[in-house]
Amino acid sequence: MAKTHAELYDAIVVGAGIQGCFTTYHFTKNKRKVLLLEQFFLPHSRGSSHGQSRIIRRTYCEDFYTKMMEECYQMWAQLENESGTELYRQTGLLILGRKEEEEFCAFQDTLSKECVEHKCFESEELKRCFPNIQLPSGQAGILELSAGVLCADKALKVLQDLIRQLGGVIHDGEKVVEIKPGFPVTVTTTTRTYQAKSLVITAGPWTNKLLLPLGIQLPLQTLRINVCYWKEKVPGSYGENFPCFLGVFPHLMPHHIYGVPAREYPGLVKVSYHYGNQADPDERDCPSAPPEVADVQILSSFVRDCFPGLQPRPAIIEHCMYTKSPDGNFILDRHPKHANIIIGAGFSGHGFKLSPVVGKLLYELSMGSALSYDLTPFQIKRFQHLNKASL
Ligand SMILES: Cc1cc2nc3c(=O)[nH]c(=O)nc-3n(C[C@H](O)[C@H](O)[C@H](O)COP(=O)(O)OP(=O)(O)OC[C@H]3O[C@@H](n4cnc5c(N)ncnc54)[C@H](O)[C@@H]3O)c2cc1C
Repeated sequence: MAKTHAELYDAIVVGAGIQGCFTTYHFTKNKRKVLLLEQFFLPHSRGSSHGQSRIIRRTYCEDFYTKMMEECYQMWAQLENESGTELYRQTGLLILGRKEEEEFCAFQDTLSKECVEHKCFESEELKRCFPNIQLPSGQAGILELSAGVLCADKALKVLQDLIRQLGGVIHDGEKVVEIKPGFPVTVTTTTRTYQAKSLVITAGPWTNKLLLPLGIQLPLQTLRINVCYWKEKVPGSYGENFPCFLGVFPHLMPHHIYGVPAREYPGLVKVSYHYGNQADPDERDCPSAPPEVADVQILSSFVRDCFPGLQPRPAIIEHCMYTKSPDGNFILDRHPKHANIIIGAGFSGHGFKLSPVVGKLLYELSMGSALSYDLTPFQIKRFQHLNKASL
């Protein structure tokens, strides 16, 4: 039987990905007693937060994300100052697509409405300014200047170090195997039992596994993503001075393509597809997992046609998980029956940059404090029409 730990925590946070780490950081900053539990030994590469780079941008169709990004940029800078570690590199972000596409227009509208500095390129100007990109005629571009790259692995490490320095407790290699709702909530791991006034579940693609015994299942897809790196034919041609990009080509492919300039692996540019195949996170790397070549083929054709300075076969393929909600928006809410169990999930492949504010909101929900943002777009009840039985 698991040994019971005597301490009553203000909160237990399950999952030390970026969302759990930022949530725990906010608890420690506010001098709360907090325990962060992680099933794997840290660092690990089995979830969604590992790797060297994540794009940070203000460009969104939905202005509520763009508004949140103001504070996120400030908090990323604060984290850099507190830790003395550079986490953000400004590169700009180039949105590529046809001017008349709905999503392309929505990006531009939000940038204009929210006064985010950006520059628009007509087709010919785009070709002149970015000769290493060759798009079919009629494609335009929008460059968001403040966008860039976040160092993902470094950010996780910095947060975990700060949590410990500020008095928070992190137990890795301890999988949560049972949650008994109530006040206090009782959490049993593979080695011990703990109690807390509230529980925050930030378990990424494992979320529904933890929620099943708690009587709900969220409509989340867990997708295995191929993270592909492509070799520059001439070293440096997509390097330091090249922006991140996001391709919106609904007439060619149903999901976005995105890229990060060569830096994390010398001479290799990250170009990936914003979708993957359904996979159980515990079986992501099993040899029996389907080979999923369709997205790599889409990427190869795209690279061959549009990025002629890259070799058209990936030099490296790594894996990561998306936890996708039906509308692509996050879930930041209380458990419908147990008010002191808070859920942060469904980050749908774009949650890293927003984790400073996500963590703050999960902290506020957990403490019952006034919320800094309107959480209507993130409520569980928006899915009621999809799956009444399990919500
Ligand atoms: C390839 C890829 C590219 C991306 N690019 C971008 C980008 O450019 N910009 C951006 O903003 N976002 C991006 N994202 C999205 C972003 O990385 C994710 O939204 C974010 O990392 C999700 O973090 P998380 O903490 O929710 O999940 P995770 O990182 O998966 O963390 C969940 C943690 O919970 C732990 N856990 C689960 N069950 C238990 C249990 N029972 N007991 C204890 N611990 C448990 C897991 O082990 C894991 O460590 C990308 C994601 C991927 C995969």
